[in-house]
Amino acid sequence: MAAARSIKALSSALWLKAFVAVVCLAIVTLEGWRDWNERQEEFTAIEASVTNLAKSLTQHVEDTFELADAILVDIVDRIERGGASPDAITQMDEFLAERIQTLRRFKTLTIYGADGVLLGSSLPGHRYKVDVRDQAFFQHHSTTPAGRWFFGPLIRDPVGSDWVLTLSRRIDKPDGSFGGVAVATIPHLYFATFFSRFDVGMQGTITLFHTDGTLLVRFPSRENAIGRNVSYEPWFKDGVTWGSFEYKSPIDGVERISGYQRNHIFPIGVLASVGRVEALADWNREFVYRAVAVLILVGLLAYLGWSLSRQLTRRERAEAELSILAATDGLTGLANRRTFDKALETEWSRAARQGTPLALLLIDIDRFKCFNDYYGHQAGDESLQTVARMLSTAVKRPGDLVARYGGEEIVILLPATDAAGAAAVAEEARARIEALAIPHNANTPSCVLTISIGTAAVMPAFEQLDSDPKMLVALADQALYQAKLEGRNRVSMAEAA
Ligand code: GH3
Ligand code: MG
Ligand code: MG
Repeated sequence: MAAARSIKALSSALWLKAFVAVVCLAIVTLEGWRDWNERQEEFTAIEASVTNLAKSLTQHVEDTFELADAILVDIVDRIERGGASPDAITQMDEFLAERIQTLRRFKTLTIYGADGVLLGSSLPGHRYKVDVRDQAFFQHHSTTPAGRWFFGPLIRDPVGSDWVLTLSRRIDKPDGSFGGVAVATIPHLYFATFFSRFDVGMQGTITLFHTDGTLLVRFPSRENAIGRNVSYEPWFKDGVTWGSFEYKSPIDGVERISGYQRNHIFPIGVLASVGRVEALADWNREFVYRAVAVLILVGLLAYLGWSLSRQLTRRERAEAELSILAATDGLTGLANRRTFDKALETEWSRAARQGTPLALLLIDIDRFKCFNDYYGHQAGDESLQTVARMLSTAVKRPGDLVARYGGEEIVILLPATDAAGAAAVAEEARARIEALAIPHNANTPSCVLTISIGTAAVMPAFEQLDSDPKMLVALADQALYQAKLEGRNRVSMAEAA
């Protein structure tokens, strides 16, 4: 019973610990889940903003080239109507200079003859001095019948040295043969400056690509990055026209979150990106504050739970010890009278229900008063303890109960035991005590400490369920009286009730 109590005490402390652990885990999990969701939302918002930026910048680039194309169409039209002769073309200088005045985003408007030599330009002073036969735009138009514009690769300006992007159109002679090329150049710097007006943070970049993967313009500017081919990047794969990507820059090694938009008219696309660390810095900072707060809360909760469970364990252990003390006799360590009375009731009912016999041994030390008188009360106590220990070992079944009934009287309750069984146990107990050979001069004729035992065994009938189990004690008592009368150090059996 004591063991059962201590198990219960331990398990309620364990329950409390488990509860605290589950609550702590739940708080951490819920907070973690919330943070993760917030992070995802933050991510989505960043991706949306860089994608929108890429879209609007792509639109601006498209507008620029469309404007360039409108001017080229006008120039080509004027030349074709006014004649594509070198003389006619050279008269265009003034017109070109005037046109460029209001269009600061263009660097030059130039017209080349069928031999590739510069004939007219918005920048005076270059006539006949520049030859573009090797340039891609010239080779394209000289071999391709008049059609649409040509978007050239990034080149060094033929009338300067800056990096420029070119848009060009073919000029036809009246007979339809190749008469020259009209070219608008847009400085690479124009886009770099335009891109610099947008806030993408310290780690952000805005990049203009040719759709073949060539890097045309980058903000912040990096000379070694211009012209580099990065067609292996995911936004060039599988006909992607737009989307958001995470990547590690091959140029500066920074991890970025980016949005890409490809233009549907010109072969260009813009990638706007922000540094991953920088973009998530605010969220990360808040996350650290929240995580520290949650960990403190969880730590506090765990500490409180644990100390509460320690207190619970201590209290329940003390209660268990108290209840053991309350059920035990202090001198002998046997079950006390209260425990015996309860056990007797319980076993009586059980025997009545199950139809099994119930036996009781009432044991009394012979001439113990004289023992005390002769050897002293303390020696009497010690002998009583020795007798109790020996009697405890005389019973073997787990249901058997040895209890101090009062004074130097001890009872042994034997469930499911009949008269013969009880007599056997009693005789064994008597013999063991005699064999201890504790000197007891007054106890003649043996002169050693002996016990007398009265045994009683009954079969409580079901109808007698309410009958008083004390009758078993009374029977055993009568038998004990008989044993004393017959000369002590013996077992006497009560007549069956
Ligand atoms: P009998 O053979 O008839 O039993 O003689 P007895 O002297 O043993 O008589 P009884 O059983 O009536 O005596 C009880 C005595 O047992 C009284 C007391 O001196 C002694 N006794 C009872 N309880 C204790 C105890 O806790 N310690 C000690 N040392 N002696 C006790
Ligand atoms: Mg007695
Ligand atoms: Mg006695």
